[in-house]
Amino acid sequence: MINNNNELGWNLEISYAQLPEKFYATLELNPVKSPELVYFNEELAKNLGLDSEKLNSEAAVEVFAGNRMPKGSIPLAQAYGGHQFGHFNMLGDGRALLVGEQLTSSGECLDIQLKGSGRTPFSRGGDGRAALGPMLREYIISEAMYGLGIPTTRSLAVVSTGESIIRETELPGAILTRVAASHIRVGTFQYAARWGTIDDLQALADYTIKRHFPEIEEKEDRYLLLLREVINRQAALIAKWQLVGFIHGVMNTDNMTISGETIDYGPCAFMNSYDPATVFSSIDRQGRYAYGNQPPIGGWNLTRFAESLLPLLHEDQDEAVDLAQAEISKYMDLYNDYWLQGMRAKLGLFNEEKEDSSLIKELLEMMEQYSADFTNTFKALTLRQYNGSNLFNTTAFSDWSRKWEERLEKQQKTSEASQELMRNNNPAVIPRNHRVEEALAAAVEDGDYDVMKRLLNALSNPFEYAAEQEEYASLPPKSAKPYRTFCGT
Ligand code: AMP
Ligand code: MG
Repeated sequence: MINNNNELGWNLEISYAQLPEKFYATLELNPVKSPELVYFNEELAKNLGLDSEKLNSEAAVEVFAGNRMPKGSIPLAQAYGGHQFGHFNMLGDGRALLVGEQLTSSGECLDIQLKGSGRTPFSRGGDGRAALGPMLREYIISEAMYGLGIPTTRSLAVVSTGESIIRETELPGAILTRVAASHIRVGTFQYAARWGTIDDLQALADYTIKRHFPEIEEKEDRYLLLLREVINRQAALIAKWQLVGFIHGVMNTDNMTISGETIDYGPCAFMNSYDPATVFSSIDRQGRYAYGNQPPIGGWNLTRFAESLLPLLHEDQDEAVDLAQAEISKYMDLYNDYWLQGMRAKLGLFNEEKEDSSLIKELLEMMEQYSADFTNTFKALTLRQYNGSNLFNTTAFSDWSRKWEERLEKQQKTSEASQELMRNNNPAVIPRNHRVEEALAAAVEDGDYDVMKRLLNALSNPFEYAAEQEEYASLPPKSAKPYRTFCGT
């Protein structure tokens, strides 16, 4: 069902509503008092085919606030389950509303979702609302991830609602408009496997394949191929996270997409000093989702996905388990291959040599020992400007860099080519936690969005190495307390 609703450029479909009814709940709207557009992504609006000039209008803001739906929309909340810190629960969109899927002129079909739009049948005890700070935070980090070339949901708009929400204190409410390849999660499959029939599970799998993997639609073993593809995309994604020091913070199975996009920016943050044990989230007391645990946790989540698919893989359960296990067992090697390929690029290496793994390992061990900043160390190597860390004054580093330079000389590439490879793989800027906090404080406390705008501008092309970006590369002032993030609900 396509609605050519030209008003503002919406061109919405609601294919999700063709799934069996247990996959969603249609919603009544929960209008907010006095919505105001506080941040808006013009470039993304253009890509979506929206009329960015009119999007500041009252009619458009009413849509971003969930007060009114564009023609053709059937607002719905999606049902899903998920393992939260290892424990399985029924979840679902407790504070989100799917407006529909926008069909773009380039043929993409993208979910438009409001986050913080009010209670749904899946809200459990929650109020269905979100605070301004965390919604702006998701905006900043998701757009920074996009700038880094990492698959991610994107942020189209943030409106303040004019209403307060109650958390530990009273906070200004807000709604984020999120754009995603889809919101189908590992947890959506877990929900189908746990509470649906085999037909429901198959309907979800067929829908997912049609939407994300159309090239396997006609294949007889398409459900096995679906598993293989999702494993591949997640291995590639998590390798990309590791290569820039991104810590998701809450890798529950409901926060892992089937599309391979990063989703649900809650307590996430970027690592400064290299330490695999780094955890920022205040609720992750055991370090389950620490930086160094992200790759194996990805495997754990994918195993839950594989389990959900078992009834579709083979009639005989033992055969199905064997098939699934054969795929899952490839995940860690796949991940390592992506990671190693990425690390080689970070060191300017085009070809492969046996010694590369140990060269990389030695560097990381030294970085850990000297608490060297992850981003700035690779930036220093790129520019051959060795300052800003004690690491660079050690003989261990001199020995290592001699070995590295020798290794570089072994390849048939100019030093310019290898430096360019490094520049394209080592961001000069990342969203440093203190910079993100500074931008959020200015916006939330003073209504000043310029700090956020400048930050986003610096983050939009992190591989530029422009002089204006320099100030965003500096480290946070040393403080007694470690940086902590909160779930942002
Ligand atoms: P998250 O930790 O953001 O991935 O959310 C986990 C679950 O809690 C999801 O089902 C959310 O929809 C739900 N949730 C989070 N915040 C709220 C809220 N304020 N009201 C209702 N449900 C919420
Ligand atoms: Mg979530």
